[in-house]
Amino acid sequence: MSAEFYKIDLAINYPEYIANLLNSLKDDYKKIVFISANKRPIRFIEKQISPEAALGVDFFTIDEFVQWIVAKYSHPAPTIQSKLSRELYFLDLIKSTIGEEKPLFGGDDAQLLGWAKRLSSLFDEIDRQLLDKKLANFQYIEAIDEAQLILERLKSLYAKYREDLKSFTYSGDSFRRAVKITEKDEFKEDFKDSLFVYSGIVYLSNSDLEIIKNISTVADIVYLSQTDLSKREKTKGKIGFSTFKVIDELEAKLKKAINIKTKQIKSNTNKETELFFYQFADTHTQAEAIFNILKKHKQIKEPSKLAVILPNQATLFPLLSFIDKDYNINITMGFPFLSTSVGMFVDSVFEIALDVKNREQEAQTVNSKLLVKFLSSSIIGLFKDEITKKAELIKKEIFENGSGSYTFKNGSTIQSLISSFININSLKSLKDAFIELINGIDEEKLQEFELESQLFQLLQTHIIDAIDNLPDRSIDLKFAYQLTKEILKDIQVPFEGYPLKGIQIMGMLEARSLSFDEVIVADVNEGVLPSIDKIDPLLPEEIKVALGLTSFKQKEALVKYNFFRLIYSSSKAHIMYKVGSTGMEKFIKSRFAEQLILLEELKGKKLNFYTPKINLTVAGDSKNYIEKDEEAINYFNSKISFAPTEIDAYLNCPYAHYLGYIKEIKPRISLEDKFEANVLGNIIHKLLEEGFAEFKGKELGKDDLEKIRKNTLRRLDNIFKNHDKETKDFLDKLSEFEKLGLPIILKFRLSNYFAVITNSKDFKPFEVVETEYDRGTFDIELSPTVNVTLWGKIDRIDKVGDVLRIVDYKTGMHSLKPKVKKIIQVSNHLKYDLFNDEELKKVRDTVVSFQLAIYMLIITNEWKDKEITTEFHYIGKSNIIEKGPTSRDIEIYKKLLQYTLNHMRNSGHIYAIPSDRCSFCPYNYFCHFAKYF
Ligand code: SF4
Repeated sequence: MSAEFYKIDLAINYPEYIANLLNSLKDDYKKIVFISANKRPIRFIEKQISPEAALGVDFFTIDEFVQWIVAKYSHPAPTIQSKLSRELYFLDLIKSTIGEEKPLFGGDDAQLLGWAKRLSSLFDEIDRQLLDKKLANFQYIEAIDEAQLILERLKSLYAKYREDLKSFTYSGDSFRRAVKITEKDEFKEDFKDSLFVYSGIVYLSNSDLEIIKNISTVADIVYLSQTDLSKREKTKGKIGFSTFKVIDELEAKLKKAINIKTKQIKSNTNKETELFFYQFADTHTQAEAIFNILKKHKQIKEPSKLAVILPNQATLFPLLSFIDKDYNINITMGFPFLSTSVGMFVDSVFEIALDVKNREQEAQTVNSKLLVKFLSSSIIGLFKDEITKKAELIKKEIFENGSGSYTFKNGSTIQSLISSFININSLKSLKDAFIELINGIDEEKLQEFELESQLFQLLQTHIIDAIDNLPDRSIDLKFAYQLTKEILKDIQVPFEGYPLKGIQIMGMLEARSLSFDEVIVADVNEGVLPSIDKIDPLLPEEIKVALGLTSFKQKEALVKYNFFRLIYSSSKAHIMYKVGSTGMEKFIKSRFAEQLILLEELKGKKLNFYTPKINLTVAGDSKNYIEKDEEAINYFNSKISFAPTEIDAYLNCPYAHYLGYIKEIKPRISLEDKFEANVLGNIIHKLLEEGFAEFKGKELGKDDLEKIRKNTLRRLDNIFKNHDKETKDFLDKLSEFEKLGLPIILKFRLSNYFAVITNSKDFKPFEVVETEYDRGTFDIELSPTVNVTLWGKIDRIDKVGDVLRIVDYKTGMHSLKPKVKKIIQVSNHLKYDLFNDEELKKVRDTVVSFQLAIYMLIITNEWKDKEITTEFHYIGKSNIIEKGPTSRDIEIYKKLLQYTLNHMRNSGHIYAIPSDRCSFCPYNYFCHFAKYF
C-alpha cells in the first residue's frame, strides 16, 4: 500500500487544497476516510468539495473516528464512562488502597478529589500512549507526601484500574482499544483498498502511530501537514526559530513506523504576512479595537476572509457586547461552563448553602452579600414569577436595612429553593437538589433563551443523568460542592457556528488547519499563549519524560506551531496584547509576539505599532489646555538655555513638555520602546562615533567605509563580551530571548546602514570633520531684553566637496521630515504675536523638528558663510536618509524658532496638541487630551 507525507507551504490555502485533492481522488478509491485534528476545517472543506466527492468521503475528527470504531467493532461494546463516575472511581481507588493504611487529608474527601482527578488523567494518558508496560512504582522522595504515596504504588494502582474498568471506556482507553481493533480481520476487510487522509494532526501518540501502522497494511495513506517551505524565519545570525521543527519530528516518527514518502507542495507566490501590533491596558479597550476593525468588514460573507481568534475565552463576551445583529458573525469555540451565567449561578447557590450550614445555630440566616449576589443573577429572572418577585422584595429589604445578614421568614420560596442544597447528604440528594432548582424555572421564559437552555441541558447530562447511573453513596455538602465544581470546570460549552459564513470568531484550537486572508489574534500574552506552565504535583516533569508522556515543552511547541502557522498563512495579521497590571493581574507580552517583532526587525521591516485608547477622544467643544501655573511661568522666565530635544518636546505638545520638564513626571517606557531605549541609542551612537572618529580628516571612499563597518562590528562584539555597567544594567532588564536577539539586531542595523549609504546612487566621497561636536552655541534674541542660548551635541559634521553636512543618527522609527515646501507659506502667514494652539500647530506640522535647524545655527559661529545641508540617518529603518533643512532656509527657521520660544514665555495656557504621536507619548496612559488616529 502507498503512504505519502505532504508538506504543504503555509501560503497555500489549506482547506481549498484539501478540497481539490479529495475531488481529484474520489474516483480512485471506493472509500475515503478523512481524519482531522478538529471539526471546523471539515466544515470549510465540505463547503468547497463537489457533492459527489462529499458522498464518497467519511469525515471524522480523530476522537470521533476512534470512538466510532470502538463502538462498531467491539463485541460487546464497552460503556462510555461519565466524568463524574470516573472521578468517584479514582477517589475510591485511592481511599481503598492508600487510605486504608494511612487516612489521607484527615479523611477529607473534598481535598482528596483533586488527587483523584490527577490520577484519572495520568492513567488516561498512559492508556493513549500505551505505556502500561513501562509503568513502575516510583520512589520519588522530592514529591509531596500524597504524590509519593501514589507513585510508590503506581503500577499496582494501574493494574487494579484496568481490571475494575474493563467493561468501560474513556478517552485514552478508546485509543488503546482502537489499536487492537485495527489489527483485526473484520476491520481490515472493511477498509481494504480504501484511502485514509489524515490532516492537521501534528502530534501522534503511540496509539495513533500503531493505528496508522495497522491501517497502512490494507489502505493507502495521505498524511497532510502545513509547514514553512519558504523559510520565512531564516535569519543570518545564530538565533534559531525552531517553530516548524514539530513537523520534521512528525515526519521522522511516521517514517520510523511505516514506509512513507515525503512530497513538498510549494507555493508560487512569495506571500509575506503584513503584521500589525496593538497594545492595550485592558480587555474592554482591546474588544473595542477588534470591533473597530470588524466595522470595516461588516458585510463579509466568505468565511475565509476574516477571523478573530480568541485564545482567552473570557474575551468573547466583552467583544460580543459591541457587536449587534447587523454583523455577519459565526462563533466557534468552547466557553468554560463555570464562567457562564448558569455556572456562576450554581456556584452562588452552593456558597449560600454552605454559609447557612456553617451557622448551625441560626439556620434561617444567611450572609446578605452572598444572598444579593445570588438574587442579582440574571438566571433568577428565568424562575417562576412568585420566585422572581420574592427575590426583588428581599433585595429591597436588604438594601433598606443595610444589615450584614438576612433571616428568612417561615416558608420563604427563596429559602426552599436552596434548602435542598443545605440538606445534601448523599449523591442522590445532590441530584434531587438540582432537580428541585430546575423545577423552579419557568419553561416558557427559558425557551426564549437559547444559550441558557443549552447550559441547563449540559447540567442535566453531566450531573443529573450521570448520578442516575451511579450507586448512591453518602457525601456531605462541602464534598458535593467540590465535586460539582470539578465536573463543571472541565465542561466547555460548545459554540459551533452554522451556517458557515461571515466573520469567524473562534478559539485557538478551533482555528487549527484553517487559513484566512486576515486574522486578529487577541490576548497574545504570556500565560495565554503559551498558557502558564502548570506544575503537575503528582508527576514531576522528569518522570513524565522518562515514561514517554507528553512534556510541557512538547505541549508548548505545539501551541507555538499553531500560532505561527495561523499568522504566516494569512495575508494580514493583527497581533493584540495587554501590558501593565491591574490590581489582580499582570500582563506580559507573549514570547511569540516578541519573536514576530524580532523577525520583522531582522528583515528591516517597518514595525506597525498601535496603542489604541478609543474612549479618550477629545470632544470638539472641550478645553484643550490647562491654565499656566506659577511653576510653569517661573520655569520659562528663568530658562536661558535650551537643547533641541526640549524645544521639540514643546513644539510637539506643550502639555507633554509640561509634564516631563516642569512637573518632572517619569515617562512610562513601553515594552516596544525597550529596544529603542536610550541605552540602545547610546550604544549605536558610541559605535558610530568611534568608527568615524578614527578616520577624521581623511576623504572617505567606499573602501574606507567598508573598513569602518568592519571595525564597528568588531567593537559591537566586544561590547557584548565585556559590557560596561550601563550596558549590563540595560541587558539585565531584557528577557533571555531579547538578550539573544539584541546583538543580531544591532549587527543587522549597522551593516544595513553602511550598505545603504555606500550603495546610494548619490554617494560622494566625503571627509568627516567632526564627531560628537559640542563646542558651539548660538544666542537667539527673543525680544530686545531677552536672549536665550541654544546648545547641542552634533553627531557628525562632514564635508562633501565645499558643502558642510550635518548628520544626526536616529534609532527611533518616527519620521521627522519637515514639509519644506510649506515652510515659507506658513512663515508668511503666521500671526507672530498670537501665542495660541492654532498657530503653534501650524509651525509644528511643517517644521516637525527644530533639531537640525538649531545645529545649523550653532555651527555658523565656527564655519561662517558656508553652505550647509542636514540629514537624519535612521539606523534601523529601510529609508535610512531623511534630508533636513539647508542653510538657504536658515532665516525662516530662525524666525519660527523665535516664535516657538516666545510661545513658551508668552502663552497664557499650556496647550495639549494631540496628534498621531499620542500613540507613542509616554504620558498617554493618563492624559485626558490624548487622541488616537
Ligand atoms: S498624549 Fe498627546 S495630548 Fe497628551 S501629552 Fe501626550 S502628546 Fe500631548
